[in-house]
Amino acid sequence: MGVRVQKYGGSSVADLRRLRIVAARVAATRAAGHEVVVVVSAMGNTTNELLALAREVSANPGRRELDMLVSVGERVSMALLAMALQELGVPARSFTGSQSGIITDESHANARVVEVRPERVRAALDAGEVAIVAGFQGVSRAREVTTLGRGGSDTTAVVLAAALKAEECEICSDVDGVYSADPRVVPGARRLDTMSLAEALAMARAGGQVLAEEAVAWAHAEGVVLRASATYSTQPGTRVSASPSPTRISAVVTDRELLYAPLSWLPRVPTACVRAASPVGLVLDRRNLHTDLPDLLPVATVSVIGRRVGADPKILAEVLDVSSRTGEELRDWWASSDSVTIRVAPLGASELERALHGHFCEGTTA
Ligand code: ASP
Ligand code: MG
Repeated sequence: MGVRVQKYGGSSVADLRRLRIVAARVAATRAAGHEVVVVVSAMGNTTNELLALAREVSANPGRRELDMLVSVGERVSMALLAMALQELGVPARSFTGSQSGIITDESHANARVVEVRPERVRAALDAGEVAIVAGFQGVSRAREVTTLGRGGSDTTAVVLAAALKAEECEICSDVDGVYSADPRVVPGARRLDTMSLAEALAMARAGGQVLAEEAVAWAHAEGVVLRASATYSTQPGTRVSASPSPTRISAVVTDRELLYAPLSWLPRVPTACVRAASPVGLVLDRRNLHTDLPDLLPVATVSVIGRRVGADPKILAEVLDVSSRTGEELRDWWASSDSVTIRVAPLGASELERALHGHFCEGTTA
């Protein structure tokens, strides 16, 4: 049997009790005959707490020092998980991003992976050990510690899965898969058994939180099969692969972490934070900004995800029609191959998510 990469999110390793459950799950995967690479996030809310400390010291902390600070969170998890596995009698060895050969560009706090040289991870597997890798971080060619943007542990898992030719890359968290909408907002939302990598990518770009964008982009480019599953369940979750999704429209996704800026702000913001640009302005992803931009308006987007929906005039017309009927002022919209996105005021987002999901994913159109 081949290599399995398993990534555990912050809530799965939030305290030592949960960390031991993860250790047992990893041990069971190894006992089933797999070579296991585990990628861990920082424990619970650690990354936010570290960022809050930085903001107490400086309103605009330098991005290099931010990386030195927040990369620590994942290192705590990796060492503790290795110890927990050793307690179970399972040989395990932890590695930082740099030791795992995750080479990135120089863009601190939102670095892109440019190369993966997992020699030490491979050697650990060859020695019969479980390799535990600190997620979310790498090293630049200038030997600086970099981090991969919020949610970046998913990216660590996928790039290692690609480099090690893993059978599957499992993203384990407190949710048991990818849903057709947020179940807390849309009562009729359902879990998807399968979906295509192309649509998962459109979904991540639209602000979906289950799988990080850069991670899905790598998986899509390299053909890595992903599985989103719950840490505390034996259910298979959602399998994400090159095969087409079973339904015309897969999901409706809302992003509430956005800011709206005039076009003239473009030189002042990191390009990676620009979600969309139109003649009326810029939509910025506030998650990786890490800087104070005064007087910017919070905005939300609601996106319909499905194969080639952005190139289908009938679907586009239906999206605009449903949107105009929710009573929410339609401010702006744009489309990509597999998504159509509507910009709304944050307060109107949930109603629009329910309306679009009702129209496209419930009843006969589903
Ligand atoms: N700990 C980092 C974050 O909170 C990375 C991750 O969890 O994937 O964004
Ligand atoms: Mg995540």
